[in-house]
Amino acid sequence: MMQAVVEGRHCGSCTLCCKVLTVEKINKPNGQWCQHCIQGRGCAIYSDRPNECQQFQCGYLMWPALGPHWLPARSKLVVALKPDGKEIVVHVDPGVPNAWRAEPYHTEIRSLASHATRATYTVFVQIGRRVIAVFPDHEVDLGIVAEDERILIREVGDAGATRREAVKLKANDHRIA
Ligand code: SF4
Ligand code: SF4
Repeated sequence: MMQAVVEGRHCGSCTLCCKVLTVEKINKPNGQWCQHCIQGRGCAIYSDRPNECQQFQCGYLMWPALGPHWLPARSKLVVALKPDGKEIVVHVDPGVPNAWRAEPYHTEIRSLASHATRATYTVFVQIGRRVIAVFPDHEVDLGIVAEDERILIREVGDAGATRREAVKLKANDHRIA
């Protein structure tokens, strides 16, 4: 079921998710404009757009905790919750790859990561295929994550002084559940 949209929020002239997201049904890679996107206006195949597109609502539309400055057309950031609920991904427009480091976004992404530690999800920043895992006190730049690679989040350290780390592994690695 689609989550309710925050009152007063709508896509308007934003079309950034049609650039930053992967759409498997039409073989659209992330970080490149969809061939069907009329930038700033919408989808040329709106009534026939893939189910993935129909189901997608970004964090700006759904979460009042993300203020108006998170409008993707302005921030150059599209916040997405993975379907399994275990990952929040901040997709960055590759044309402005450092947009996530600008304030107040960087501090707010760290804040999301702080909450994530108490909850059960992880925050990632994704720029094309490059992925950065964000934790409250540090970041792990995993570089390009290939099709045959996966990211493992694990606890390291002694009891009472553990911290979460991210490592990139081959998909067939026995450490991947
Ligand atoms: S990124 Fe969000 S606000 Fe922009 S078009 Fe996509 S769903 Fe709408
Ligand atoms: S099919 Fe339409 S809604 Fe889906 S990514 Fe392309 S332009 Fe956007």
